[in-house]
Amino acid sequence: MSNKSVEDMNEIVSLSKSRGFIFQSSEIYGGLGSCWDYGPLGVELKNNIKDSWWKAMTYREDVEGIDASILMHPQVWKASGHVDGFSDPMVDCKECNSRFRADKIDLNAPCEKCKAKDSFTEPREFNLMFETSMGPVKDSASVVYLRPETAQGIFTNFLNVQKTMRKKLPFGIAQIGKAFRNEITPGNFIFRTREFEQMEMQYFVTPGTQMDAMEKWKEIRFQWHLDNGLDADKLRWHDHGTELAHYADAAFDIEYKFPIGWDEMEGIHSRTDFDLSRHAEHSGKNLNYVDVQDGNKKYLPYVLETSVGCDRHLLAIMCNAYTVENPGEKEERVVMKFKPHLAPIKVAVMPLMKKEPLQDAARLILANLQKKYKCEYDIAGSIGKRYRRQDEIGTPYCVTIDYDTLEDNAVTVRDRDSMTQERIAITELQTYLLNKFGF
Ligand code: ATP
Repeated sequence: MSNKSVEDMNEIVSLSKSRGFIFQSSEIYGGLGSCWDYGPLGVELKNNIKDSWWKAMTYREDVEGIDASILMHPQVWKASGHVDGFSDPMVDCKECNSRFRADKIDLNAPCEKCKAKDSFTEPREFNLMFETSMGPVKDSASVVYLRPETAQGIFTNFLNVQKTMRKKLPFGIAQIGKAFRNEITPGNFIFRTREFEQMEMQYFVTPGTQMDAMEKWKEIRFQWHLDNGLDADKLRWHDHGTELAHYADAAFDIEYKFPIGWDEMEGIHSRTDFDLSRHAEHSGKNLNYVDVQDGNKKYLPYVLETSVGCDRHLLAIMCNAYTVENPGEKEERVVMKFKPHLAPIKVAVMPLMKKEPLQDAARLILANLQKKYKCEYDIAGSIGKRYRRQDEIGTPYCVTIDYDTLEDNAVTVRDRDSMTQERIAITELQTYLLNKFGF
């Protein structure tokens, strides 16, 4: 059997739209640039990803979760450096008005959109933060920003969490939430958008131990991507080496081989005490940690950050899962080979015919299964067509109810990957699925 994996991002874009994973935002109005809506299957997949991250990161002794607000005091962004420094140099093509990041193109080459030569403006700074105003009066005092990263909500709550949860170093604070960046060159579907979701953790450590923390978290984070099903040969490390942000003392990215090439999916950065010291300075508050294990010594911890884009990881998961078996042949089938814990639909329940006794039996099984699993009830078309449709959305198991079911109280369970079918007693079905899924 020959298999084909994804070659072109458009294969994922079109499956996403036709099968209800991701739609263009405001589509009936012609769409809004680089904004996307998750449909019924997309939101399930995304929630499953967030759930797998949350459990991996916070169901442990040394990490707590929070959910900070998107709008924060404007001083936060002064302190973090985003007001003054969060900008990408950009150039415009004077011929076609396309805008590019100056660091991403060859400024001496012709414009890649309209092919005009020497048409670029001088690079200009462009702040990536979205501004809005708070309250009824719009003046400079009311300006607030949509957060461009979730991390700052963690730094500002560092002592709240440490004290209320009685944490000792090293410990981490994790959160999942929306971030907004007015990206100059968004695109490649959900790879780079202006509104996206981040899953970030800041791990607070005693200064001097940050490299041990780096080693530990590099391993944990890489393994998470493998556990979610990404192929090892499509993952690699990028070491920032000496090209570091001014506040960092080491930085690594986990890159994935997308159809558009290798690119960053997660950053693991050692940020020193830069953020806490800036917030201490700007807020006038003492943010020191009191180390009771070391003679009540007071100091600002160092921070090791792990930051992964939920949407970008989801895109990698979709690209990695996409498989065309026997391409071009009669037996061709498209299968989304999601790991079962990520699959949007866990079980499809299918009465063989629309006849009432079969539907009654099927609905009873559905009612039982969906107490635990997201299921789909599918009665449209031939069984073969229904299997193909479930393959395309990555449903691990299909349960078929036929006339024999009414006699022997058993159903046929079909496995997505092997396509094998087994006859299982209805009373055994829950246990059978529990053993298969492991949850
Ligand atoms: P890039 O170089 O791609 O702009 P970055 O280095 O600015 O990314 P970070 O600030 O380190 O990214 O953000 C951490 C993670 O958040 C990234 O690895 C990525 O997965 C995600 N991310 C950042 N910007 C976007 C965006 N515009 N759209 C979707 N995800 C994003």
